Amino acid sequence: MKPCVFCEQPGDTKEHIIPRWLQRHFDLKDQNLQMINKTKNQYCRVIVPACKKCNSEIFSRLESKVRLGMATEQEYYLWALKIRYCLSVIDSSLPEDRAKPEKGPMLLEQFSTIGHDVIKHAFKHLIEDKFFFMPYPFGSVFIIKNPSQDEGFGLVDVSHPHWALTIALPNNRILSVIFTDRGLVKRSLQEQYKSKGGLSILWKEFEKSTPTGFFSQHLTFRLLLMQYQLSNIPYGVSLKKNGVYSKKLPNKLKYREKLKLPVISQIAEFCGFSKEVAQDVYRSLPANYRG
Ligand SMILES: [Zn+2]
Repeated sequence: MKPCVFCEQPGDTKEHIIPRWLQRHFDLKDQNLQMINKTKNQYCRVIVPACKKCNSEIFSRLESKVRLGMATEQEYYLWALKIRYCLSVIDSSLPEDRAKPEKGPMLLEQFSTIGHDVIKHAFKHLIEDKFFFMPYPFGSVFIIKNPSQDEGFGLVDVSHPHWALTIALPNNRILSVIFTDRGLVKRSLQEQYKSKGGLSILWKEFEKSTPTGFFSQHLTFRLLLMQYQLSNIPYGVSLKKNGVYSKKLPNKLKYREKLKLPVISQIAEFCGFSKEVAQDVYRSLPANYRG
């Protein structure tokens, strides 16, 4: 029996990475999820081993809060992190080329497991009321209205080193989480839009400039570009018995002066865009941003 991906006890149950209530809501039964090595897998088969305690006790409270739309930002953060983490566990086992398994895994284990110690520590203590995250929420959490109003499902999973997840929720909502920025992407956008009327103005502008059908990809891309622009995100964390603590956050945000095309291309590709789209974005940046 394989060990539980959260606590390493025997994993005697199956954890559906995309929760079954969400699969039912969006009628995903016969649809496929594209994995990192471009192979496809039915949503109902995208599972990881988990023990009964993690699967039903520890995560069920979190799951039902998200299902009922009653979660806090930090709870949405943890819920999305669980999905991203489980997908990263699968990523590490996928061969780069299914026809040529001798080429080895898509992601080397040392890359695919970066961050897992922090995540396991957080999940292990999740059930304790006094467990703390500093800052709170620990990343940037956005819940916005899906402008296409089509009630369609969308998922953008961005692996290491960028770490983001965008996923459709019921009632035409989209949840987008940037995991490792300590909330600074959101703070930066709030600062920029403070005098313009707040983030609702940003989403309106964004909706106008985004082609329909690719909203989740564009959203994730824009948020990750902002993360890349920020040059003073303190990435270090310390794990304590009573919490996960970030290094001190900066009083003033600093921005990178030059953005490099290879990094933009990598972010674009992770979001499901072609190289051409990345180049278009790069060309549209002010000249002083192009590195
Ligand atoms: Zn477990």
